[in-house]
Amino acid sequence: GTTVSFAASANSERSFIMVKPDGVHRGLVGDVIKRFEQRGYKLVGIKVLVPSRELASKHYAEHDGKPFFPKLVDFLSSGAVVACVFEGKDVVKTGRTMIGATNPLASAPGTLRADFAVDMGRNIIHGSDSVESAMREIALWFNADELATYATATQAWVYE
Ligand code: GDP
Ligand code: MG
Repeated sequence: GTTVSFAASANSERSFIMVKPDGVHRGLVGDVIKRFEQRGYKLVGIKVLVPSRELASKHYAEHDGKPFFPKLVDFLSSGAVVACVFEGKDVVKTGRTMIGATNPLASAPGTLRADFAVDMGRNIIHGSDSVESAMREIALWFNADELATYATATQAWVYE
């Protein structure tokens, strides 16, 4: 049969995408995952957990010392989150575009935060801000054996 070649390296960038407790409480897990799936990104890791304060602090370590840091850690560890890893071409930067600005009131219409959120402290979703951050966050939230390596049947219809 026909073999369709696939540029594994270019199309296998990964981003850490997380539905935060507000998004889980509000039943928005499916909506978030739907956007990434329908764009063509591949889900390679997913789990639901209530993060410890330690994990939440490590995740947001770059904000340690800022006035909003204690509230941010309290909030992230206050309930269940859905931690995901999505894979695909330019997924980190494109994921950030799909998520929208940190302040939902400044997020462009059609972005997740503009469509589902109002307040900065309740902006429903996290996405890695660089490939380096993504690697750090994926290693923080997932063990290597929790990430799946597989080819989708549709990849030749997503990538030329
Ligand atoms: P993100 O990468 O767009 O999520 O934004 P940041 O990395 O700058 O901040 C992490 C999270 O902290 C944001 O998603 C907000 O929920 C929260 N946050 C950031 N800045 C502020 C702030 O000035 N005030 C409050 N209350 N929360 C903030
Ligand atoms: Mg950030």
